[in-house]
Amino acid sequence: GDEFAAAIETATKQLVAHWRALAAREVPVTPPCEPGFLRTALPSAPPEQAEGLGEMLADTWNVIVPGLTHWQHPAFLGYYPTNNSPASVLAEFVTAGLGVQGMMWSTSPAATELEQLVTDWLAQALGLPEAFRHSSGRGGGVIQDSASSAVLVAIAAALQRASLGRWRSAGTEGRYRMYCTEHAHSCVPKSSRLAGLGEPQLIATLPGTDRMDPEALGARIDTDRKAGLVPAIVIATVGTTNACAVDPVPDIGRLCRQENVWLHVDAAYAGSAALCPEYRHLNDGIALADSYAVNAHKWMRTGTPCDVLWTADRTALTDAMSITPSYLRNPATDSGRVVDFRDWQVPLGRPMRALKLWYVMRAHGVRGLREAIRHDVRLAAQLARLVTAEPGFHLEAHELGLVVFRRDTDEDTRGLISRLQTDPTLLCTPASVNGRPAVRAAFGSPYADADTVHYVWERIRAHAQGPGKLSAS
Ligand code: PLP
Repeated sequence: GDEFAAAIETATKQLVAHWRALAAREVPVTPPCEPGFLRTALPSAPPEQAEGLGEMLADTWNVIVPGLTHWQHPAFLGYYPTNNSPASVLAEFVTAGLGVQGMMWSTSPAATELEQLVTDWLAQALGLPEAFRHSSGRGGGVIQDSASSAVLVAIAAALQRASLGRWRSAGTEGRYRMYCTEHAHSCVPKSSRLAGLGEPQLIATLPGTDRMDPEALGARIDTDRKAGLVPAIVIATVGTTNACAVDPVPDIGRLCRQENVWLHVDAAYAGSAALCPEYRHLNDGIALADSYAVNAHKWMRTGTPCDVLWTADRTALTDAMSITPSYLRNPATDSGRVVDFRDWQVPLGRPMRALKLWYVMRAHGVRGLREAIRHDVRLAAQLARLVTAEPGFHLEAHELGLVVFRRDTDEDTRGLISRLQTDPTLLCTPASVNGRPAVRAAFGSPYADADTVHYVWERIRAHAQGPGKLSAS
């Protein structure tokens, strides 16, 4: 008990100091590591004798932390953010200490009921349709580990509905079709393969955009039906990974309703922006969706993993996933009066992830979460203005917290990307827009501010001038 309490106190102080160091940019974003570096720094065999918690903490800060890429660093502009907050960290600590497993209502009733409540709260905060709430009696939200899992689960529900349950015994038999564009996240083709559907059908985009062409989708569905195939699911994206493009969900949704095809909307990153009334248009058409997912762990100050998947049709989901061996039978399940989240996800067991969403929403208030989004959007706008004003740079995309740009020539852009990749003090990631290489910068660190934008921009400009043009700033 005493050793634990002392270690927690130490760890808390270390983390707070680390957060301050990140905010002050006193540590690099990326570590100077060669593959295999950790093996040489740590013993190759496990300890025979027990070690003290203090020793582990010391090694964490001496050996592990210097080998990490700091996703909370203000100059971390790579990928999409995975942000965090003290409330989320506290909740994860308490959750770990409680150590419960909420696979079914009966295995920890409050874990399930809190998850039902907070996913309903979040649905309200985001302005999602009533049908997505548990309180509707037909739909509801569930916390998944990732947007990737949300897609896989949506495919299972779609197959259940399209096959009237036949796929459960017969498999997919090469009959069912899934549709998306080439701009859907890589988790979409991955889930398609895992679900036994093979590669998804890639639908053309509207001219000059990365947005799905609903007419092309309609034509493909038609052709597939005539060939005796069963169109089962469309994945539309609200905020693509490359350039934050938004598929025309209202048109896609109408078509899916007409054709009785499941529509899953992947809003992993951009969905959080709907907390703000000025970005509510991102929800346009989702009343026509069968399922919708947003990653609270991307842009809602909640530590990873915390994807929230909502469905308007929980029966398809649970009919697809439910299997009840004798060892899982219990009176609450038999009563039909409870939700068992094991039937809403791939794994059986599940940690109590709702606590962190609950703490985060209470610690920030919806207003605080909105302000965080607006802050990042302002930083992106500041960078976009600098890019636009700079000769030799071209702004390719600027949506929400994301800025995508390139140089005059692809060769110059590639040179910039490779020099940025060797600079440990900031992180941008590469993109491809209209077939041309580009640089992506996405804001989301809780510590980024206007000064960060100037700092990052000066380094990008210096790298753009060529190798060795960086002053020791
Ligand atoms: N969908 C989109 C649009 C994304 O941008 C991402 C990740 O950036 C994902 C899905 C995958 O998210 P996850 O890591 O939660 O599976």
